[in-house]
Amino acid sequence: MTVLYIVFTTGRCNLKCEYCGGSFPESLVPYEVKYGVDDLKRFISDDPAPTICFYGGEPLLNRNFIRSVMDEIPRARFVIQTNGTLVRRLEPEYWRRFETVLLSIDGRQEVTDHYRGSGVYRRVLEAARWLRLNGFRGDLVARMTVTEITDIYLDVKHLLELGLFDHVHWQLDVVWSNRWRDFDGWCERSYLPGLKRLINLWLDEAERGIVLGIVPIIGVLGAMVKGERLDCPPCGAGKTSLAISTDGTILACPIAVDARWARLGNIIEDSRLKVVGKVGIGEPCLSCTYLKYCGGRCLYSHIERLWGEDGFRRVCRVTIKLIEGLLEIKGRVIELLRGGTISLKELSYPPFNNTTEIIP
Ligand code: SF4
Ligand code: SF4
Repeated sequence: MTVLYIVFTTGRCNLKCEYCGGSFPESLVPYEVKYGVDDLKRFISDDPAPTICFYGGEPLLNRNFIRSVMDEIPRARFVIQTNGTLVRRLEPEYWRRFETVLLSIDGRQEVTDHYRGSGVYRRVLEAARWLRLNGFRGDLVARMTVTEITDIYLDVKHLLELGLFDHVHWQLDVVWSNRWRDFDGWCERSYLPGLKRLINLWLDEAERGIVLGIVPIIGVLGAMVKGERLDCPPCGAGKTSLAISTDGTILACPIAVDARWARLGNIIEDSRLKVVGKVGIGEPCLSCTYLKYCGGRCLYSHIERLWGEDGFRRVCRVTIKLIEGLLEIKGRVIELLRGGTISLKELSYPPFNNTTEIIP
């Protein structure tokens, strides 16, 4: 079995976005890596096709570790999730070896800068251009955090129209966030109508042979037209995805740094196969008719339920609306595929687990 290894290079971050508050406490995620690259190499040695995603904090704050891993484990596929402000710290020859680069950006300038800080939008776009100019030919993904100030239609469309990103993915800020004033009202007035408009836009473009790289749309549609199910959970947490903290702790999910249930072992002591499958999605998802295309959404939210049972159901409602909206166009998409207007390859996303979790 192949696995995505989400490798923390540091717990430190150079920004202080309001979503996560910046750096982790050093006691939870040390700012230096406490194990050797050899330990990582040994831990993944029986994986025939490992993917390593550098993660933090801001992973580029520890470029030496990134270089060492890329030098010493060249057979891996490489991915990075970065805020984009420090891309010049790593040489272009390393960047050219990444298959997927995910840059955090929330949409239009005012939306991005609101929670991430003034000037961040401009710096992310500079980073995207710099990567392309320096020969990065892989998949450039705009990774959005969606909040009450997001207009999903305008912000996704804006990012697509920049012509810099191959794909746009988003996550709803619904794990810890107490920033919402009126989640249900925002869903009714803004998010759900915006999602509908995005689906219509996607279909209009598909009619012209253009497949817009909107990850939640193509990820779910791809499963629908191929008669497949999404993984459970879609991000693979604890099964096909393991996070490795800077002290070597193996976590089911990279945000669960302080959750006992997520601690699966340590790469220095435990074998890879011993730790997979210890945690997973349970009820009510296993009995839910939407599981096939939802996958239980997010393992962390599923277990923690920080918004309570009622809050969990409110987020489900939004996921179900996305799935139903896509079921409505599934028939037409199959016709477009059969007629050769669009290709199945473009709907087979992600081509490997590149940390885009598909369900927002
Ligand atoms: S819609 Fe809700 S209950 Fe159903 S599978 Fe998804 S997260 Fe679970
Ligand atoms: S979707 Fe949820 S469980 Fe999966 S990696 Fe993200 S936060 Fe963790």
